[in-house]
Amino acid sequence: MNGVGKPDKKVKTTCPFCGVGCNYDLNIKDGKLIGVTSNLTSVVNGRLTCVKGRFGTDYVHSPERLTTPLIKKNGKFVEASWEEALDLIATKFKEIKDTYGSDALAAVSSARCVNEENYIMQKFMRAVIGTNNVDHCARICHAPTVAGLAASFGSGAMTNSINEAPQCKVIFLIGGNPTEAHPVIGAKIRQALRNGATLIVADPRRIELAGKAHVWMQLRPGTDIALINGMMRIILKAGWHDQNFINSCTTDFDKMADVIEKYTPEYVEDITGVPKHLLMEAARIYATAERASIFYTLGITEHICGTDNVMSLANLAMLTGNVGKLYSGVNPMRGQNNVQGSCDMGALPNVYSGYQAVTNAAAREKFEKAWGVKLSDKVGLMMPDMFDASIAGKLKAMYVMGEDPIRSDGDAHHVRKGFEHLEFLVVQNIFMTETGKLADVILPAASFAEKDGSFTNCERRVQRVRQAIEPIGNSRPDWQIIRDLSNKMGYPMSYSHPSEIMDEMASLSPMFAGLSFERIDEKGLQWPVPDKEHPGSQYLHVDGKFACGLGVFKAIDHQPPAELPDAEYPFMLTTGRILYHYCLTTAGYSKHLTEYRPEERAMIHPDDAKRLNIADQDYITVTSRRGTVQARAWVTTDVLPGGIWMSFHYHACPTNEVTMGCGDKVTKTYEYKVCAVKVEKTVVQ
Ligand code: SF4
Repeated sequence: MNGVGKPDKKVKTTCPFCGVGCNYDLNIKDGKLIGVTSNLTSVVNGRLTCVKGRFGTDYVHSPERLTTPLIKKNGKFVEASWEEALDLIATKFKEIKDTYGSDALAAVSSARCVNEENYIMQKFMRAVIGTNNVDHCARICHAPTVAGLAASFGSGAMTNSINEAPQCKVIFLIGGNPTEAHPVIGAKIRQALRNGATLIVADPRRIELAGKAHVWMQLRPGTDIALINGMMRIILKAGWHDQNFINSCTTDFDKMADVIEKYTPEYVEDITGVPKHLLMEAARIYATAERASIFYTLGITEHICGTDNVMSLANLAMLTGNVGKLYSGVNPMRGQNNVQGSCDMGALPNVYSGYQAVTNAAAREKFEKAWGVKLSDKVGLMMPDMFDASIAGKLKAMYVMGEDPIRSDGDAHHVRKGFEHLEFLVVQNIFMTETGKLADVILPAASFAEKDGSFTNCERRVQRVRQAIEPIGNSRPDWQIIRDLSNKMGYPMSYSHPSEIMDEMASLSPMFAGLSFERIDEKGLQWPVPDKEHPGSQYLHVDGKFACGLGVFKAIDHQPPAELPDAEYPFMLTTGRILYHYCLTTAGYSKHLTEYRPEERAMIHPDDAKRLNIADQDYITVTSRRGTVQARAWVTTDVLPGGIWMSFHYHACPTNEVTMGCGDKVTKTYEYKVCAVKVEKTVVQ
């Protein structure tokens, strides 16, 4: 790949890795993907890409791709025809629905799949199976963003655009490491610094941008609310708040102001460990800037108080009037390539496409009329609830598309147990996964390079995914598989191209009504795009006119993490992503990326390493109340004493065997950012 001869053709498409949504050209020779080159017409990234986009797509031709349906017989997978596999699934799904009811089935949709596949999956579960039990991996990352920003602003998405970043005067980066997780946004933040911007970073780790920040607040994990409340109290006392904005555009300010009164700089220093002079300087820089922009990601959302963390950031932006204008706002950097789109398409247990609630009678009637069925008004199960329901004997079958919950969800033991209790499991993926090993039927799916569709990036831009090669082996695009299964189950679906699915979705979803493949062809469109003439929306809540009317201040108190270090488990583990990898499926099968960084390295502070007689590169054992993993030590002052930091990218070190099985009280997003562990040097026998 990359440099293997001259391509026969180049096909512009959208990157299948992170939520930045870079566009580039897939270079094709003899029907094979041989490399990736920049396409200067790409609106989001221009010539920029990161190592994953440039070199990681070789997974498409991995010899380990699933190429034919598999049915488990006597404990072993045997090859089957599509006819046989789909017949079996249709029969079992009908049987389980008839015996136990529609809510005994559930589906996991996929942020790796195109919008049209997410729409058709939620339609299949709702219209054909008759349940709202459909969810996807937003549950384990940015569900608190969707819930929190929707509660505060009326819309759960990035308020501004990626290409505003280089023009920002002040950037407040909290709980995010774009250099590694969203590299092209990281590059644009560095561009802003070169343009004279001031950067504030709040992060327990010395991430690359902390070294470039004017103020770095190294807060203890799980203390973001105290930090933000402390900043807001300083701003209020100094009179740096925007009274006009508060008066005319928001509500419930007084309740919030009452709660933050006790967050004196001393009290905040006590909770967060951040010296009060740094807190005061950060508050001054943010509040006195003409325009200041907040960027955050999973360091904010993956806590038991993830939704409250998000709403605290919304409070800070509204207090200073830093929302509803250019180079300002609250900007969640979404993780997966299409996690924004999967939420938008209604792959969630409580909403149809366009965030129309299943409990809203008018919305339900509209979809009933369009789909010709009676729909359930009962909110479905979130993913963690699915595993509990299975263990309790209430959920009998699951259909998992393009995800591997055993590797990606918190407390892998519990998730595995949930799958083991099912009567029937269907897994649809491009590779065999840990979850797939437990399946009764495996369906081989086509990768992003083998199908048409669209992804929506974190700035709400809906962009084209274009087929560049034929599906590998006997694999099929996910939307075709669901369509064919639906037909087998007696609910006719006749889509012949994903554009028809988008047209149906647009006709039923007011905020996406102006979308079509034709309109997104060149540059994509940023939603809301309410009609066919609308040019799309660069930024939201223009002039403080929030999607919900008035912006809502929330009164929020600090909440400690669910599990804190103690005598038995004295370390605090935080997990996250590294530059060279993405997730286990896809990037995990990239030869190039694996060569760059072949194994897990757990960060540990030199003081702790010395005490435990651990040298850099030694193998260490990390154990929590839930499980044990082994990794090489990376002795570094980048983490706080008492802290351990690991990624979750390696089959040989499945970090989620250790992480917490509980999470945010609103969205149930797992608390990946804090759990108590013990660390020992691994004794080699
Ligand atoms: Fe792909 Fe994200 Fe890298 Fe862009 S920054 S090339 S979208 S992984």
